[in-house]
Amino acid sequence: MEMSVTLERALEITSRKPLTRRTQLIPLVEASGRVLATELSSKVDDPRFDNSAMDGWAVRESDCMSPGSTLRIVGTSQAGTSETPRVSQGEACSIMTGAPLPEGADAIVMVEDSEIQGNTVTITGPARPGYIRRRGENLEEGQVALESGSVLAAATFSLAATMGHGVVKVVERPRIAVIGVGDELTPPGKPLTDGSIYESNTFGLTSLVSKMGAIPKRYELIYDSIDSLRNTLIDASQTCDAIITSGGVSMGKWDIVRGIMEDEGEIGFWRVLIRPGGPPLFGSWGETPLFGLPGNPVSSLVVFHVLVAPWISKSLGYHEDMGPMLSKKVSVRLEQDVAGAPRKLCLRRIRIRPEKGQLLATTHTHQGSGNMHSMVAHNGLTLLPPDTDGKAGQTIEALWLS
Ligand code: AMP
Ligand code: MG
Repeated sequence: MEMSVTLERALEITSRKPLTRRTQLIPLVEASGRVLATELSSKVDDPRFDNSAMDGWAVRESDCMSPGSTLRIVGTSQAGTSETPRVSQGEACSIMTGAPLPEGADAIVMVEDSEIQGNTVTITGPARPGYIRRRGENLEEGQVALESGSVLAAATFSLAATMGHGVVKVVERPRIAVIGVGDELTPPGKPLTDGSIYESNTFGLTSLVSKMGAIPKRYELIYDSIDSLRNTLIDASQTCDAIITSGGVSMGKWDIVRGIMEDEGEIGFWRVLIRPGGPPLFGSWGETPLFGLPGNPVSSLVVFHVLVAPWISKSLGYHEDMGPMLSKKVSVRLEQDVAGAPRKLCLRRIRIRPEKGQLLATTHTHQGSGNMHSMVAHNGLTLLPPDTDGKAGQTIEALWLS
């Protein structure tokens, strides 16, 4: 077991025990929000044929060089048809947006720039070749347009359909157990007894697990009993791909997660040089990877962001920009001094807002690691290196949380 490791070292140790990546084929209609397990190339040219970008007239540009030319109407090209009349000199074919360009035509006139008289049309505006959408101008058949690890969100989901994929190979959603530990914890909505508090961490953690593309399995709270913790860990290791606990990893006598992992599990590291969120441990229960997150509410979520989310992302091959993610690394300009931490990477909560082409960062509320409201009032975390304070006006690195 390694003690008090840097965040980089902690990430290295966790990457040696990745979450198992499995894949499955599913119909595209069921794939909203899922992550592609392969790259996708187009099965078709897009557009499939030259077509009109406007409702109007397919014409020969040379017939419309001077305003007021009158052309004979030879028919209509509608979206969805393949039979279109030929357009010869002195002729125009009525055309709808997306309909195939008739043979012989080389430009489109907008319907607004025309007047019909019987079976002729007078052209009152320009004929533009630019109103023709050319075959393959967006994508050519065989062209790779979506990379492996991309999440099928709105545009990527539609593009998979545009390219003709009815079935896609996606990353299976791993199941991740979320277990809250602590004698003092009461589920919200139940009466509080002396000294008890509402349990909150499993709510935020299950939500983050879902956002990272996994399925959370929330267990009943463990009331500081080694036996019930053991039973829960056994069940979780049999039914889930990874385990996250919250609470019970500090130095105290009742820190039973650390205790049971020392005696009956395997620990890769304990304690990380970050603030907040110093006490986490990582190891395995049997073959199942386990993160022991701190009980302090802010710490539990912060550690998930900097330690668990990158581990899930790397294990499952998520794309760096296009995959599921909780935060983006950005540079921000501090609007006030922000104290760093001795020997530790300091993840202070900041409010990031764009202004005049740069990101400005301020801090508002009290920064205690028990203050969940501070995670709501802020939307970012500083990445202040150990022993470094941030000064007003200085640009520093930060995580912008989504
Ligand atoms: P621990 O890491 O178990 O020593 O807990 C540290 C602090 O976090 C204590 O004040 C606990 O009451 C609080 N805490 C632990 N677990 C939770 C939880 N699931 N929800 C809310 N607060 C918690
Ligand atoms: Mg506790």
